[in-house]
Amino acid sequence: MGCRIVLLGMPGAGKGTQAEQLAQALGVPHVASGDLFREHLDKGTELGRQARAYMERGDLVPDEVTIGMVAERIARPDCANGFILDGFPRTVAQAEALERLLKGNGTALDVVAFIRVREEVALARLAGRWTCRNCGAVYHTLFNPPRQAGVCDACGGELYQRPDETEEAHRRRLQVYQQQTAPLVDYYRRAGLLVEIDGEQSIEDVQADLRAVVESACGSLTAESAERL
Ligand code: ADP
Ligand code: ADP
Ligand code: ZN
Repeated sequence: MGCRIVLLGMPGAGKGTQAEQLAQALGVPHVASGDLFREHLDKGTELGRQARAYMERGDLVPDEVTIGMVAERIARPDCANGFILDGFPRTVAQAEALERLLKGNGTALDVVAFIRVREEVALARLAGRWTCRNCGAVYHTLFNPPRQAGVCDACGGELYQRPDETEEAHRRRLQVYQQQTAPLVDYYRRAGLLVEIDGEQSIEDVQADLRAVVESACGSLTAESAERL
């Protein structure tokens, strides 16, 4: 099944959590721009060096840098049959660049799932988020705790709080979201691609809604991918 999906929602809405599960079910890559940036930071690349200060403040990395990085990722063969974009696009310029890029391949987005939560819910989620240093899996001290404190269920890696997980950076990220990313809701609604999902439900219930949305946009899940559900 080919399916090109964008997950839209404010920081803390649950995009990464949902994308990870959906990617497993569909057998398409989970492409998270934040994770790509963090890989560059870890490897100490030039791109990582350019992105670091923006990320620490909670500001967006400039479009030129971000678009190039994501374009390179979705041009790889594992994305030929589809992908789940998480955290990209975050500006109208990024959305337009994505559209041009896909058009160039004779493809297009199938659906944009907007995971809606209130700001106070997003802040509470961000405040308790812990991330696996090794595989990037996310946990929450209260809402989604690992079996053993500080240790990733999936890979045994060490859990840490990202350096941009300060209250100040959280507030900044939500402000940046309202200014620069929220306009994409209307942008994609006008394009007829937007479907809204209530993100304040349990992780399982959000996932069920998301799968229903994806099935109706991309056709029913293949037997092979359905088996993995
Ligand atoms: P995003 O990628 O949109 O920033 P994450 O997937 O990283 O969001 O989730 C933010 C935090 O909220 C994480 O700690 C995650 O475990 C937790 N979380 C995600 N979805 C839910 C949910 N439906 N209910 C409660 N907590 C959630
Ligand atoms: P969250 O899950 O909390 O929203 P992300 O992991 O998606 O955070 O992003 C972390 C940081 O990486 C952002 O605050 C921003 O600095 C940078 N970043 C990620 N995606 C983009 C993007 N599409 N455009 C610009 N900057 C981005
Ligand atoms: Zn892990």
